Amino acid sequence: MKFATKVIHAGIEPDPATGAIMTPIYQTSTYAQEAPGKNKGYEYARTKNPTRSVLEKNLAALENGKDAICFASGLAAMDAILRLLKPGDEVLASNDLYGGSYRLMRTIFEPYGIQSHFVDMDDPKQFKKHISRGKTKLVWIETPTNPMLSIIDIKSICKIAKANDLLVCVDNTFSSPYLQNPLDLGADLVLHSATKYLGGHSDAILGAVVAKTKKLADRLHYIQNAVGAVPGPQDCFLILRGIKTLHLRVERACKNAKKIAKFLQSHPKVGKVYYPGFKDHPNHKIAKAQMRDFGGMVSFDLANDEYEEAKKVLTNTHLFTLAESLGGVESLIGHPASMTHASIPKPERLKVGLTDSLIRLSVGVEDVDDLIEDLDKAFQNL
Ligand SMILES: *Cc1c(COP(=O)(O)O)cnc(C)c1O
Repeated sequence: MKFATKVIHAGIEPDPATGAIMTPIYQTSTYAQEAPGKNKGYEYARTKNPTRSVLEKNLAALENGKDAICFASGLAAMDAILRLLKPGDEVLASNDLYGGSYRLMRTIFEPYGIQSHFVDMDDPKQFKKHISRGKTKLVWIETPTNPMLSIIDIKSICKIAKANDLLVCVDNTFSSPYLQNPLDLGADLVLHSATKYLGGHSDAILGAVVAKTKKLADRLHYIQNAVGAVPGPQDCFLILRGIKTLHLRVERACKNAKKIAKFLQSHPKVGKVYYPGFKDHPNHKIAKAQMRDFGGMVSFDLANDEYEEAKKVLTNTHLFTLAESLGGVESLIGHPASMTHASIPKPERLKVGLTDSLIRLSVGVEDVDDLIEDLDKAFQNL
């Protein structure tokens, strides 16, 4: 089945009871049993819910995985993955991570004895040196990275990780399964904040892990039930509904982002523009090889790199709304240093180029001429 068919059909059947085309929202906490232990496969909704099961089947198909496991948020999904580790185990993570992922590793898991190291993965050969035999157990990759949009070579990192018996998880939130499928490139697990592109309408928080093997999936289902950070059926429904147009939305967002990146590059008030679709982007060739297109995210800083200048842009756009998050149909503008990445110390963020005036755009599916005019007007105040 091709991708555009999978988003609409994979794992989804008309409701057996009524023929309803849309997966019903099974708003129930428990299920009637005919006799003790005799049931229709559902006992209690923390363990299993039919709306959630359909979403899990659909997501597994989109990422070419064995199974998917859904959680109340992207971070709850990540929490479950980190629970695969034991005290003494270590994580090697790419050093330009979503702020919340960094916070979870640093402030929640480190006190339990699971240490994370944040390293540059742009060069797979350099990455190899950071593996600590017997200690490193999990490699955590985010690509394109947030907000610098650098690209990590998933295939090469997985090859090194496999040679050292390490699990690899790719946070695929920025690409969505339409642009990139990490399991096909050698990863074991894929994480999604379905809150973003999968849902696509900024109306629900939900997370998912897609596992390559049944063994990993079974363990994660166990954690899902034992820890209990499950999503409600209404949110599962909203994500399922959003996924039906994933390919159309992402295609348009990519097209718009390409035009906006070019506009920014030619603007005298703009400093550096970060966009993997540029031929002179350091890992453009890898992006081209592992992604279907270059995504809907563009970051840039200002020629005059000052927070006050950035603030003028951030408060003077009208179509780009100042807000956290990304991946919705509407365009958003954000300031990583004070918003999504505020929990990362300044010297660490400067190391990766995350300057005071850096602005991140999540380009939506509006008419691109209107979006460019909106930015152009905001720059007139500088
Ligand atoms: C938003 C986001 C998360 C966290 O997901 P939530 O659904 O907000 O918990 C993780 N990784 C990336 C790349 C994100 O953008």
